[in-house]
Amino acid sequence: MSIKTTGLHHVTAIGGDPQRNADFYLRTLGLRLVKTTVNFDDPGTYHLYYGDASGKPGSLMTFFPSRDAPSGRRGNGQATTTAFSVPAASIGWWRDHLAGAGITTGRIASRDGEDVLTFDDPDGLQIALVAHPQGDPRDPWDNGHVPAEHAIRGLHSVTLSVAEEEATADMFRDLGLTFTSQDSNRLRFSAGDGGPGAMVDVLVTPDAPRGLVAAGTVHHVAWRAPDEETQVSWRAELVDSGVNVTSILDRQYFRSIYFREPGGTLLEVATDQPGFAIDEPLLELGRALKLPPWLEPDREQIEQALPKLNLPSENNPDRE
Ligand code: ZN
Repeated sequence: MSIKTTGLHHVTAIGGDPQRNADFYLRTLGLRLVKTTVNFDDPGTYHLYYGDASGKPGSLMTFFPSRDAPSGRRGNGQATTTAFSVPAASIGWWRDHLAGAGITTGRIASRDGEDVLTFDDPDGLQIALVAHPQGDPRDPWDNGHVPAEHAIRGLHSVTLSVAEEEATADMFRDLGLTFTSQDSNRLRFSAGDGGPGAMVDVLVTPDAPRGLVAAGTVHHVAWRAPDEETQVSWRAELVDSGVNVTSILDRQYFRSIYFREPGGTLLEVATDQPGFAIDEPLLELGRALKLPPWLEPDREQIEQALPKLNLPSENNPDRE
């Protein structure tokens, strides 16, 4: 295999109430809303993209939030923790900030040289804030509800829970990641140069129940491909090695292929281009409901079906 992803592109999860979801990720975690659109496979549901100032690959957490979504169950065959990267000196600030927002956190844990603060989002999705000892050079969104010095720098890693390690580990090796460390039943794999945004932890829990993907759980984990040409050749390699891969899908802001790792988690490989400024100016990201050309004819019907969102002025100065 010549596949070499350089890191995480985005994580997509299923949420409950869209307003509560937006309030938590924009106001409490201080991310930027970089796109308001719908689930292209289910246009009656929002697809909200949160990230840094421009929504760079590796900064993105996205949700399909719906009041009607039944609750999921955390377990094997899922990404059970989504971790964001924060500055080392900021972990204590975050513990206090989250407590002030009524979020119960665990104690700050030390793992493999990193400080880890774990909590659940309002729908029960497990989130961790992790401070890497070498820091994180990425610029944060500095116009949100969190001071820039403490702000989230982007994704840190995801943790996949599996009953059996070998086949999942092989899949990540096939995607170009290398095994870099082990802490008890947690195996870390790194893409490219590793570090925040380029890591996956495989947590081997043979006795855990199987997860159920619904509200409060991760739907899929996307990895970066530099461009469409590379994605085409990586797809061919995966097909040749017997992986059941979708065709290349146009997600408007990137092109995507999807397949499952043997432990059950849905993975995606998404292109870095064209990005979120393709259909609205950078300064106005997230402000208006954007639809892909093939859904524009149904705009009126789609808008009527979606609940109205009250978004913070940082994201939508004309709405608050
Ligand atoms: Zn995706």
